[in-house]
Amino acid sequence: MQPLESRVYKYKNPAVKFYCPLCRTERAITVKARLTAKNYLQLVLTAVVSSMALYPFLGVRSFISIFFLWAVFELAVRTDFKKQVPCPHCGFDATWYKKDVKVARQKVADFWQEKGQTAPNAAPKKA
Ligand SMILES: [Zn+2]
Repeated sequence: MQPLESRVYKYKNPAVKFYCPLCRTERAITVKARLTAKNYLQLVLTAVVSSMALYPFLGVRSFISIFFLWAVFELAVRTDFKKQVPCPHCGFDATWYKKDVKVARQKVADFWQEKGQTAPNAAPKKA
């Protein structure tokens, strides 16, 4: 099968490179689903600064803020990752496909409906 889109934007140093399982277009995700070493460094620096800022008010308890920040960082990275997962060419979302195939199919159908077309891969292929 030919890729739906062969002239795709080339990402610099993508974290993940793959082919869309539905439309065979080359895909790239620029962020990792997990925190990188750089993220941890940012986390520690932010935690140190906020702990120092909160220390006069909360004392030792201000160090608990690192856990809140950690959660916020994890969430931000995951949200960023998930945003890049759906295929911009055919609407295929791998995260939904793993959870619920029906929802994933519906998302592809919605994607094409928004474009005012029917999904090219939804119809049976002519031999
Ligand atoms: Zn696709």
